[in-house]
Amino acid sequence: MPFDLIKRQNLLIDGKRVPAQSGRYFTTVNPATEEVIAEVAEADEADIDAAVRSARAAFEGPWSKMRAADRGKLLLKFADVIRDHQDELIELESLDSGKPVSAIRRQDMPAVLDTLTYYAGMADKINGQVIPARVDALTYTVREPLGVVGAIVPWNFPLMIGMWKIAPALACGCTVVLKPAEITPLTALRLGELALEAGFPPGVLNVVPGFGKTAGNALVEHPDVDKITFTGSPGVGRSILRGAAGNLKRVTLELGGKSANIIFPDADIDAAVRAAAAGIFFNTGQVCSAGSRILVHEAIYDTVIEKLAARATTIRVGDPQDASTGMGPLVSDVQMKRVLDYIDIGVKEGATVVAGGKRCTEAGYFVAPTVFGGVEHEMRISQEEIFGPVATVIKFKDEEDALRLANGTVYSLAAGIWSADIGRVHRFARRLKAGTVWVNTFGPTDIRLPWGGSRDSGFGREHGDMAIENFTETKVVWINTGA
Ligand code: NAD
Repeated sequence: MPFDLIKRQNLLIDGKRVPAQSGRYFTTVNPATEEVIAEVAEADEADIDAAVRSARAAFEGPWSKMRAADRGKLLLKFADVIRDHQDELIELESLDSGKPVSAIRRQDMPAVLDTLTYYAGMADKINGQVIPARVDALTYTVREPLGVVGAIVPWNFPLMIGMWKIAPALACGCTVVLKPAEITPLTALRLGELALEAGFPPGVLNVVPGFGKTAGNALVEHPDVDKITFTGSPGVGRSILRGAAGNLKRVTLELGGKSANIIFPDADIDAAVRAAAAGIFFNTGQVCSAGSRILVHEAIYDTVIEKLAARATTIRVGDPQDASTGMGPLVSDVQMKRVLDYIDIGVKEGATVVAGGKRCTEAGYFVAPTVFGGVEHEMRISQEEIFGPVATVIKFKDEEDALRLANGTVYSLAAGIWSADIGRVHRFARRLKAGTVWVNTFGPTDIRLPWGGSRDSGFGREHGDMAIENFTETKVVWINTGA
């Protein structure tokens, strides 16, 4: 068993594993078996306060005295330590979230390491500017770390999304209080331990599992937190904006999506179907940018439905710890019920299940890869984020129709277009409402490229050098030199 997975996992505050002040624990479950795998200390307001105080002391103390280049070296060391423990982290992530080990090894873990090394290299390149505003003064800017960052993350990519926030925040010289999702707290705690092993001073990275309404909200409302970086649902995003108003914290929100993947008849249809299937079934559809709405030109609609349904039925659904598994369970009982409810809603709305449509095992939260045909744009399954392995396939007539459908939800995170017509590709890239537009591919992300959305998908951009702006403040220094 990895990570001394025995039974009681305490919080990580100020470099020490400590129980919650209330003494309370909650359980975390393996979604493939429904077995309890650990009891986890349940942080609430008092523990969040202790974590924030530790983060503040580290920020004012050892962390602020370290050279930026040395922060970068520590981040590289952190990457080395994680690499040395990657088998353990992969197994733990899979046990806690139900993600297949093969996918974590291929996708999440390389992304975690890439993120760390990318921001390690950036730590000593966060520069100001000399701006010659006057002849009687030397005027320049410096970029200073914001201070204490509260990072609140979801359960669909616990390690990877956690690192998307930790690495740039630390590179900028901030300290972090990380609140993992209550259903996947284990790898975050282990990351915190590995950071200490790498040599980060206590308090630079604190990890406080707990529930959203208590621990999450206490972090959001804490007067000594300077910034909240959040990935999760639009409803919670709204509540975070309200909660952060008290001390006018800076906020970045990466929220949901209902991304359109648009297939024209001039596309490579087999490649489009392959990517469309991966775009909705990868990570059991629990991906904010999942291509959950597949918009298909009427001339190829029947062919695409047939090929997609065939692909859906060949996906190996099963034990996430088995290296040959293609799709694991949903993350929780609640999530499985939500997905099954949406399948019922789709049927009642008049759409047709052409593949899957049901739970596949008695134990574990497994739902078969599901394809709905005959979907109308106004149906709830076409408008609302299901966050499960459910593809809705919608017919369109022409470009205008495709654009109207693609832009016709409250979300604007990502979109894909499949076409060999270069003019059409450019027209769509310009007119699609999305933070990312993929052309003749669907779903890749890279830490060097800005990531985020608008409207109900949130605001702000993570990744690349834009993330540096999320964790720094600009100061002007004006030195009177005399003319
Ligand atoms: P969620 O919003 O319920 O929870 C996310 C995190 O917020 C958890 O840690 C939770 O404990 C915490 N939280 C809940 N209520 C809170 C509150 N009142 N105050 C502070 N924190 C609170 O979302 P989820 O169910 O964990 O994740 C699924 C959602 O996340 C989907 O909508 C999905 O699209 C979105 N998501 C977006 C991206 C992106 O990059 N845009 C990536 C992954 C997931």
